[in-house]
Amino acid sequence: MASRLLSALFLATISLHAGDFRVGAARVDITPKDGTPLGGYYRFRGSAGVLDPLYAKTIVMEKDGVHAAIVVLDLSGTVRPIVAAARKAIQEQCGIEGDHVLISGTHTHTGPQQPRESMMDDITKVNSPAGLSYTSSLPGWIADSVKQAKARLAPVKASAAIGRAEGISFNRRILREGQKEAIWQPQKLTPQDRPAGPVDPDVGVLVFDAGDKPVASLLNFAMHPTSVGGGVKISADYPGVFTRLVSERHGAEMISVFANGCCGNINHNDYVNGKRRSTLELGTALADAVDAAWPQLKPVETFAPRIRSEQVTLTRRSFTEAQIAKAKDMAANMLTKNFGTVPMAETVCILETLDKKDKPLLAEVQVIAISDEVAIVALPGEIFVELGLALKKASPFKHTFIAELANGSIGYVPNQEAWPQGNYEIVSARCEAGSGEKLVEVALKLLGEVKKR
Ligand SMILES: [Zn+2]
Repeated sequence: MASRLLSALFLATISLHAGDFRVGAARVDITPKDGTPLGGYYRFRGSAGVLDPLYAKTIVMEKDGVHAAIVVLDLSGTVRPIVAAARKAIQEQCGIEGDHVLISGTHTHTGPQQPRESMMDDITKVNSPAGLSYTSSLPGWIADSVKQAKARLAPVKASAAIGRAEGISFNRRILREGQKEAIWQPQKLTPQDRPAGPVDPDVGVLVFDAGDKPVASLLNFAMHPTSVGGGVKISADYPGVFTRLVSERHGAEMISVFANGCCGNINHNDYVNGKRRSTLELGTALADAVDAAWPQLKPVETFAPRIRSEQVTLTRRSFTEAQIAKAKDMAANMLTKNFGTVPMAETVCILETLDKKDKPLLAEVQVIAISDEVAIVALPGEIFVELGLALKKASPFKHTFIAELANGSIGYVPNQEAWPQGNYEIVSARCEAGSGEKLVEVALKLLGEVKKR
């Protein structure tokens, strides 16, 4: 009798400690007013009209009192001061520790700009009253989406699958026979041309079901959202179509969150055939890939979120006197004259590096594991696809999701091999060669830690 009572007590204690894995999701509209400075290009564009709304979408996960939040913004990226302010507000309003929160941007090129503390701020006019009014609202909106998601926490079952979307994304750096420098985004390839690197056709799918109803999904694919083409109308680009369709097809009340993978050198232009798919075609193709993967969703055993975050100090690039003089010369006329994307990107980068030479170039690497099979990695920049593929391949997790432009951005992060090949992403990179490999190394170390624990 006593032993039965004891074992009942023991079981009760166990079930008290082994709480449910709970998830809540929410979205908050962050569509700007007309006249808000937009990001994505080296010129000023004030927004005028809306093609489709922008959101801050959040998934909060919790077990045994440990919370983790994943927030994705329909914006060109994230900057450190806004991430810090949002995390502070989340900590105060929701009691979730700042470093348990991942905040990334989809990289849509038709959304508001955020201050970069460089010449870009003058070019994009992000510090104008319209720009400041928008960016100062962001931390509150982000905290609000986390608060709403947390209020909806409910026990869930998680399942994951890897879909494939072939022929959608393309490596935008091209090598031509007999030429050392890579060609950037050509109209069409010649027989002497080949892509400088691979693409990542995998579509990561993570679904949370409460009862039999999907309540949230995390979707992952690597491709620049530049299909709308840089006008002044607001759009979430293909991630907007993609997430809308996945929810329409698999659960009207499901919040589908898209995290962009390592797409630093990947976009949607089919250089071989000279074809440009529309935003609708891209989003539909990705939603079709999720449809095909849906029957393959396998339940995963979840545990309380295991989170690691590490600040990595990278080295800024150095420049010759001649490069600096040329940059200063161009900068003097850059607000009134368009010198083209690549020279302007190079100039902004050189002057910013000069200006910040005494400040450390910090990069936060964050990992969130929720299962022996599922982990999410956050990297703060536009990471080349080769680095993402290497990270996924070496990861001890079967399903490794990567969110780039997360928790801030240090700009383009090329892989070692790309550096001597030059052109856009290389001349505008803030970090020196080898930084990307260093970030991958730290991510793998952190993944190893959360896997073992
Ligand atoms: Zn980009």
